[in-house]
Amino acid sequence: MTAGPPVALRHPACGWWVEEAGTTAPDLPLTGPVDADVVVVGAGYTGMWAAWCLLDADPATRVVLLERDQAGHGPSGRNGGFCKGLWLNLPVLVDQFGDDEALAVGYACEEAVEAIAAWCEAEAVDAWFTAGGYLSVSTSPLQDDIHMSAVAEAARLGVPDAVRALGPDEVRARFAAPAARGGVLAPGATIQPARLARRLRDALVRRGARLFEHTPAVRIEERDAGVVVETPGGAVRAERAILTAGPALVALAPLATSLTVGSSHMIVTEPVPDVVAHYGWTRGEAVIDRRTLLHYLRTTPDGRIAFGWAGGRPALGGRVRGPVLHDARAIARAARHLTELLPEVRGRTIEAGWGGPIDISPTTLPAVVPLGARVDAAYGFTGRGVGPARLIGEILAARAAGIQNERTRLPLVGRPDGSVPPEPVRWAGASTVRAALIRCDEQEARGEQPDPIARFVADLPRRLGITVGR
Ligand SMILES: Cc1cc2nc3c(=O)[nH]c(=O)nc-3n(C[C@H](O)[C@H](O)[C@H](O)COP(=O)(O)OP(=O)(O)OC[C@H]3O[C@@H](n4cnc5c(N)ncnc54)[C@H](O)[C@@H]3O)c2cc1C
Repeated sequence: MTAGPPVALRHPACGWWVEEAGTTAPDLPLTGPVDADVVVVGAGYTGMWAAWCLLDADPATRVVLLERDQAGHGPSGRNGGFCKGLWLNLPVLVDQFGDDEALAVGYACEEAVEAIAAWCEAEAVDAWFTAGGYLSVSTSPLQDDIHMSAVAEAARLGVPDAVRALGPDEVRARFAAPAARGGVLAPGATIQPARLARRLRDALVRRGARLFEHTPAVRIEERDAGVVVETPGGAVRAERAILTAGPALVALAPLATSLTVGSSHMIVTEPVPDVVAHYGWTRGEAVIDRRTLLHYLRTTPDGRIAFGWAGGRPALGGRVRGPVLHDARAIARAARHLTELLPEVRGRTIEAGWGGPIDISPTTLPAVVPLGARVDAAYGFTGRGVGPARLIGEILAARAAGIQNERTRLPLVGRPDGSVPPEPVRWAGASTVRAALIRCDEQEARGEQPDPIARFVADLPRRLGITVGR
């Protein structure tokens, strides 16, 4: 085990990306009653894309957005910036939906990424969109076969370029980490997540959406042929409501056993372009390894490395606070893992570390779930929402406008299969499984077979019909 690099570690509450993007003064909270055609609760990517698509289809739509904090300061502004579809999850898609629907979802998510690129172009937004591909790298013999089922499914379904196997030399030509073995490559890009969120917020306000920040929705009720959303200082009466509050949705009784809230932590180095060049990692690939609690890493235009670890602690009762937002041990572990993977980073400064919640669905796939005649909720991105949130936003907007089309007919609409145990059993179970997964991942990384007890515990979610990681 090696010591980690020096960790200067500022802990910007909303992450380094939000600082880099620059913050604005928040919009005023809602005071008093207001009418709307559609009220959107939660201004992360999903809610903001829904609002954007509503206004795109009909600029006269009266859209109100309610945001508990500031738009885009939650996971949407502090994630790894991997902007990609779900091709690597093709086996899960096939298992859940069958061949044809799996392909339809795969293409729709790919088009969502293209739509984000096109939006940045059309709105002159510099969100650092870099289409360098999405590279999954095996870093131990026990990881070699993981993701090969996605390659096989892509070939079987006639989309071989969606997930392509790379030999060790091809991987090293892109990412020459000492432990890198084979890999697979899927389409994908990186973005600066907070720049995208911030500019989307600004564009919505320019387009006429009414945004109220520091305005939590506290009660939602279908009433008098409409829906009323109450906040501490006012209320919105609307025709339709779209609930895109991310992990906070677990507080709604109908979703209490459909959602688990975990966490992920990230660090960013000082600019290290020489290290990036040393590893031949110069095409902008978004890289993951194949741990169950995976590492995800990417570069920035000024040569920093942003590195995340998906092994954060679960949130008891879905409460987003404490170690879910900032876990010094998870950050230190991420710093150590980065040095183990890329030893040339040793001695360089880690400038910042931060964390955020992850909304995990039992299938690992996002879903649009009707909660009444006039209310839809969307959740369950499982750490993969940057690209798919654009698609889910489009679906939410179409449904709110009463439109049925090929997007609203995708099988992502409807409650996902499976459920998770109620609290506190869920938290205790998730914490135990997490500890076992960390142990298995560490043993695999050393080239050892995971010990049978840890493997048994780590496998429990699968036996219960819950998909975890990879
Ligand atoms: C550290 C980290 C790294 C990640 N890396 C990646 C990655 O590289 N690629 C990827 O695809 N995904 C990644 N993700 C996941 C990705 O960020 C999410 O899937 C995506 O941002 C989900 O967007 P959203 O709009 O659904 O939710 P959120 O971004 O969570 O937005 C929900 C909003 O609702 C607000 N809200 C909550 N309760 C209320 C209320 N009562 N009233 C009003 N507003 C409310 C919140 O403040 C928040 O702003 C990562 C997540 C984290 C935390």
